[in-house]
Amino acid sequence: MIERHEGRQQIVCDSCPTSFPETYADADFRIMIAEAKAKGWRISQVKPEGNPRDTSDLFGAAPRIAGKERQPYTHTCPACRFKPQPQGRLM
Ligand SMILES: [Zn+2]
Repeated sequence: MIERHEGRQQIVCDSCPTSFPETYADADFRIMIAEAKAKGWRISQVKPEGNPRDTSDLFGAAPRIAGKERQPYTHTCPACRFKPQPQGRLM
């Protein structure tokens, strides 16, 4: 998930309380994703049901995903990423 604090955003693992240590401005969303991935985080897009979007839409303009009930990404920290998923909740 993406946590927001006073105009800054921060990636938090969807499976545990771990958060990515850096915070970023809204305009730096793509940088935040890229740096988290470089540190071993996995950020994957969740395909909205019945509303397929191609990636050019995602990366063409900064998406305003905050504030929606369902965020179109999953965020997994390195510890959870390399841990077995006994519940198999990944799609
Ligand atoms: Zn985690």
